[in-house]
Amino acid sequence: MKLYAPSTIKEIREKHGFRLSKSLGQNFLTDKNIIDRIIESSDIGPEDLVIEIGPGIGVLTAEAAQYAGKVAAVEIDRNLIPILEETLAPYSNVTVINQDVLKTNLTELVERYRGKGGVKIIGNLPYYITTPIIMKILEDHVPADSITIMMQKEVADRIKAGPGSKTYGALSAAVQYYCTIRQVAAVPKEVFVPQPKVDSSVLKLDIRKQHPVELIDEKMFFVCIKSGFGQRRKTLLNSLTGAAGLSKDAVREILNAVHIDPVRRAETLDLDEFAAIANQMTEHIKNHQNHQE
Ligand code: SAM
Repeated sequence: MKLYAPSTIKEIREKHGFRLSKSLGQNFLTDKNIIDRIIESSDIGPEDLVIEIGPGIGVLTAEAAQYAGKVAAVEIDRNLIPILEETLAPYSNVTVINQDVLKTNLTELVERYRGKGGVKIIGNLPYYITTPIIMKILEDHVPADSITIMMQKEVADRIKAGPGSKTYGALSAAVQYYCTIRQVAAVPKEVFVPQPKVDSSVLKLDIRKQHPVELIDEKMFFVCIKSGFGQRRKTLLNSLTGAAGLSKDAVREILNAVHIDPVRRAETLDLDEFAAIANQMTEHIKNHQNHQE
């Protein structure tokens, strides 16, 4: 059975009385080439654990099961569970978990199911929660090697954007800090059932073993990024004032110490510059506290 064929999707819907949920971002993939691209670029080995987010009726799951040691697929919609039991029946190495991925402890999932190989996360993500899913995986430090995921093209463009670009923001800086990024495929909206309003992209995020910048305190780095981009039209002097409780004079002093012009904006800073500011902020706060003691 060609699971990805629109006629199969229709058959399954009719047989199980399944109604597609727009609010759960259910746009099913019908293009075998794209499915193959996602699976090939995930580089799945026979000892690997694959974690899939949102299996739908199982098009990617069935394909991944043929290459992986184990597949654990997290699907929120309980109406899809009996369907997945049927479509994935030929694969004894698949476990479907009926849960909200945002409420799932993915590290625990990895510990429970991982074999001797690596851990690859894949998915055609529900677009309404793409950013929270990516940030959860990265901020929770889920022990995975890579994340190969389909998302709305605009979100992929934001993730890839560099300093100076209008789409460069907190998401770009955060993902680039944790991962190296490669675009795997540009995907037109016509290959989904039902057809969404927007085009998509598949990105492969390889999780770095070593971070690209040295930080005294990772939390301060993210405070800096979030404050800087929180008010992206403001100068750094203004957008960083109040961050970590720092006064305007303190921010001026910090920026001067790292030779960054206080009238620049966050969207012009690369990761090294964010790191320099964050490290200087940490030092400043430490020195200040020492003075007060
Ligand atoms: N992988 C299938 C495909 O490519 O055809 C389905 C992809 S569809 C874009 C997104 C899937 O994620 C749907 O099956 C939807 O029910 C599921 N989903 C939505 N929100 C979720 C959540 N919070 N946790 C887990 N799965 C979710």
